[in-house]
Amino acid sequence: MAEMPFVNTDTEDEFVMNATSEMNIKKKRQTSTGREIEEGSESKKKKKKQYQPNYFISLPITNPEITGSVQAVQDAIIQQDQRLSKAMVRSGSLHVTMLVMRLSNEEEINIAAGALSDSKDFVENLLKGKTVELSFQGIDHFRNEVGFVKLAENDHRTILAEIAETMKKIFQEKGILAGEERAFKPHLTFMKLSKSTELRKEVKKIDSSLYEDFKNHYFGDEILHRLDLCSMLKKKQPNGYYYCESSIVFGEKHAAEPDDAELLSLSKRLVENAVLKAVQQYLEETQSKTRQTDGSPAKTETAASGSKNESDNDNTK
Ligand code: C5P
Repeated sequence: MAEMPFVNTDTEDEFVMNATSEMNIKKKRQTSTGREIEEGSESKKKKKKQYQPNYFISLPITNPEITGSVQAVQDAIIQQDQRLSKAMVRSGSLHVTMLVMRLSNEEEINIAAGALSDSKDFVENLLKGKTVELSFQGIDHFRNEVGFVKLAENDHRTILAEIAETMKKIFQEKGILAGEERAFKPHLTFMKLSKSTELRKEVKKIDSSLYEDFKNHYFGDEILHRLDLCSMLKKKQPNGYYYCESSIVFGEKHAAEPDDAELLSLSKRLVENAVLKAVQQYLEETQSKTRQTDGSPAKTETAASGSKNESDNDNTK
């Protein structure tokens, strides 16, 4: 739980849902007479909890060059301050958060999975066959509490921001409480104090001199290949990555799927053609035998048209 984006001891201060989402929530809070319920501090606390995101869209970081370099910074920091080992994000869960959301029940999870699936076509239209290659270079921080690797400012980053914006709209249009008030700032978090309450008490700020040697380090490139709908709270997978409700895949893996389907359909056609040929041969042989025994003309046309129809049908399969 401490590792989850936006779900920490400080989450409530950090996370502010955007205006559209707030309006949705407000609607739900209205009484049947349309009058808004008066809210005390208890209900405000409840409200904050309702607003807290528990799911997010993750872009997993899988390039070993990046994960290896991240590990190197983490090790260098830990060597200087052992206590900070509690703040480190494990290699298997490295990701870029594209969108956060609050899903309150199974129905909403299903709606969100549908929104993710709908996003695929929109993203592919946006990409027009191009790949998104994210370049990770340099280190920065949020309030000296979160350490992250920066994304190079280029066209790819701009497209990523467009994707995040489009997805936010798609999710919101489906009634999902998604998105934040603050602007999308893609980043790769490798450490955060909020991962441990104890650490938080001990260490107030991450000293930037701890990662001085990596300040402008080039970490590597990651191609956008997959986006996952992940739970912040459910038990992580054995590989350290988040529990995923659903995923969408772009690029070469996706392109391989129709190839497989094509192969299957081709092999079916080959088998069917072979069977047809055998039947045709059998018919021809029987007819020629009949001709030899009673001297009657062979029904070649019927046989030929019969087999033609079959092969026509075969073409539509
Ligand atoms: O999404 P991720 O897990 O990388 O976020 C790590 C932390 O960075 C979160 O606690 C989040 O609140 C914080 N953050 C921030 N400002 C942003 C984005 C994230 O303080 N613009």
